[in-house]
Amino acid sequence: MSEWPIRVILAQPRGFCAGVERAIDIVERALALYGPPVYVRHEIVHNGHVVEGLRARGARFVDEVDEIPNGAVTIFSAHGVSMAVETMARARDLRVIDATCPLVTKVHREGRRYAANGFDVILIGHKGHAEVDGTIGQIGGTVHLVSSVADVMDLRPCDPDRVAYVTQTTLSVDDAHEIIKALVARFPRIVGPHVNDICYATQNRQVAVRELAQRVDVVLVVGAANSSNSNRLREIGAGMGKPCYLIGDAGAIDTAWFDGVSSVGITAGASAPEVLVSGVVDHLASLRPIRLETLSGVIENVRFRLPYELDPNRVA
Ligand code: SF4
Repeated sequence: MSEWPIRVILAQPRGFCAGVERAIDIVERALALYGPPVYVRHEIVHNGHVVEGLRARGARFVDEVDEIPNGAVTIFSAHGVSMAVETMARARDLRVIDATCPLVTKVHREGRRYAANGFDVILIGHKGHAEVDGTIGQIGGTVHLVSSVADVMDLRPCDPDRVAYVTQTTLSVDDAHEIIKALVARFPRIVGPHVNDICYATQNRQVAVRELAQRVDVVLVVGAANSSNSNRLREIGAGMGKPCYLIGDAGAIDTAWFDGVSSVGITAGASAPEVLVSGVVDHLASLRPIRLETLSGVIENVRFRLPYELDPNRVA
């Protein structure tokens, strides 16, 4: 590789959102308060580095609650769970601490309210994602999952005048907008949230990666392959016409990506820790001299309260 300096530009904001910080904090505090092992249903957030770090400290990750000993401390992941999982946990007398992101819980509440009022609920989201499975299982009534405009054409609700929609929190804002437009065209009386349920963190990171991709030759998105919001960031970067790679960490970098390149942009999904971004910067610096900059962008100061049992500010 050549030795001329490469500009490395970091997106702002990037990486951890308030829901992910809270979920990790919950596991750490539960370990400190109750001692290991603490059981966690599914990955607490979609990032292998985070999961391995917590596993090393005594968290045990399971697929289903029937793998957890009766009465054990159990944490539900940030993506939320269905009512069936809650019921199963109660039946096993598990000591549940819910790390579901409050913005996911808000979608659950909206969906339940629509279903209770006799609406078929259309959930815009990705089949098989943990949040989607949990949301379907929280709404209770008739839920139709749509992932594309084409899916909208296949919908057969009980009453086309009694339909409502909610959305997964980590969609592409543009894709969701197109699907909502198609829903409104097909069901003019459809009701739903004012715009969509895509969370502030997802929206901010999508705006930032668009800005970043305008300024650089190559975009790197640090995030896990199963992280929905990270995949959306990669798609948006690629959609801006720039080579855009989703990487778990610096080890996934292929130096050939930087041949003839003078600037590299880096962002990170909402579940990717900043230490992984630093690792990517250090790796680039080991290849070529770098000039590091950070874009100006939204400074987030959202914080969510901890569950009562772990809240250090609770009134005894
Ligand atoms: Fe909550 Fe949004 Fe973060 Fe998901 S990405 S945990 S919905 S703040």
